[in-house]
Amino acid sequence: DYGLSEADPEVSTIIDKEKNRQFRSLELIASENFTSRAVMEAVGSCLTNKYSEGLPGKRYYGGNEYIDELEILCQERSLAAFNLDGKEWGVNVQPLSGSPANFEVYTAILSPHDRIMGLDLPHGGHLSHGFMTAKRRVSGTSIYFESMPYRLDESTGLVDYDMLEKTATLFRPKLIIAGASAYPRDFDYPRMRKIADAVGAFLMMDMAHISGLVSASVVANPFEYCDIVTTTTHKSLRGPRGGMIFFKKDPVLGVDLESAINNAVFPGLQGGPHNHTIGGLAVSLKHAQSPEALASRLMELGYKLVSGGSDNHLVLVDLRPLGIDGARVEKILDMASITLNKNSVPGDKSALVPGGIRIGSPAMTTRGFGENEFISVADFIHEGVQITLDAKKSFTGSKLQDFTKLVTSPSFPLINRVWD
Ligand code: PLP
Repeated sequence: DYGLSEADPEVSTIIDKEKNRQFRSLELIASENFTSRAVMEAVGSCLTNKYSEGLPGKRYYGGNEYIDELEILCQERSLAAFNLDGKEWGVNVQPLSGSPANFEVYTAILSPHDRIMGLDLPHGGHLSHGFMTAKRRVSGTSIYFESMPYRLDESTGLVDYDMLEKTATLFRPKLIIAGASAYPRDFDYPRMRKIADAVGAFLMMDMAHISGLVSASVVANPFEYCDIVTTTTHKSLRGPRGGMIFFKKDPVLGVDLESAINNAVFPGLQGGPHNHTIGGLAVSLKHAQSPEALASRLMELGYKLVSGGSDNHLVLVDLRPLGIDGARVEKILDMASITLNKNSVPGDKSALVPGGIRIGSPAMTTRGFGENEFISVADFIHEGVQITLDAKKSFTGSKLQDFTKLVTSPSFPLINRVWD
């Protein structure tokens, strides 16, 4: 039995190159993090070999005594991480990732064509919350259910709860989804609870981005108001790639969430759990810090932040006042080993060339960054934006592809001015 470098030098070399990329770059993608060596050890362990369809004590395969022990430990730690050690909440730790976890909830509590409302993707929501365009139902959620997204008030960059309330009263959704992929503020859970109650809807929070912050009690607590809470495990929570669903144990709107959700996970949508992931998840559960210093330095430098600041682990910068877009800035910063992503900001027309960038702090917090380091990060980003503005002056075309070709060509003088 050979190790990877001997058994498969090709894959081994690719992993080494990726490791080096991760090591040398400033990782500012808000949905990413660096897991610990201990988590990776569990993920790379013999747990991956075992089939264990079903739940602890009720498996469809033999030989699961240790897997049962592991899954119960993981459930206990997950509940404890969110102060849910009482009897009120249960958890399923088997979802393979965030999108499957969400679809499992929908499968559990909705019938095909039931109505749902989540935050629109161009306004910061996630695909799996029902994204569709005027031309196409993009996400499976919008194919199987009827989706009417709510949006931000474009003048404040905050969720337009008044409009959500009005629309919900007319649309009468069965499920309202809180949570986002690119929203720098807390959700107003009490307000959303009120709206959900008024129309007889379930209230779910997808806390994928902020679960580490919820666990550290530095943002509002969705468990106080929601019926169901889903999360990925690999973002601010710093675990392996996976998902979890937390549910109220008492019936809600006449539905026994515990059995509906457990059945939707298996046998509804999944087969054997990924036990190596469950092992890694049990090892993880650490916390991330808020990027306040980054946000205030960017504002000092004159940047416009969507919603005017941040309550959590990410900031959204609106670059449109500078006359540039997020795609070009992402490209230039990538060349300097600073990875973040272009992002739509309210009022944007194109998702491919959107007007903003999203900057997240979890990964670099894990690597020990504090206030001073994040101030320097803001300065680096500012430098990248200046370089992008210079590049734009010497390039009169509008196509991103051509711009990218220009700035990445060895003869382009700017390449030499990006710091190393
Ligand atoms: N929910 C939210 C809010 C997310 O931001 C994401 C991913 O970025 C997901 C769900 C989906 O997670 P996954 O990529 O693991 O399917």
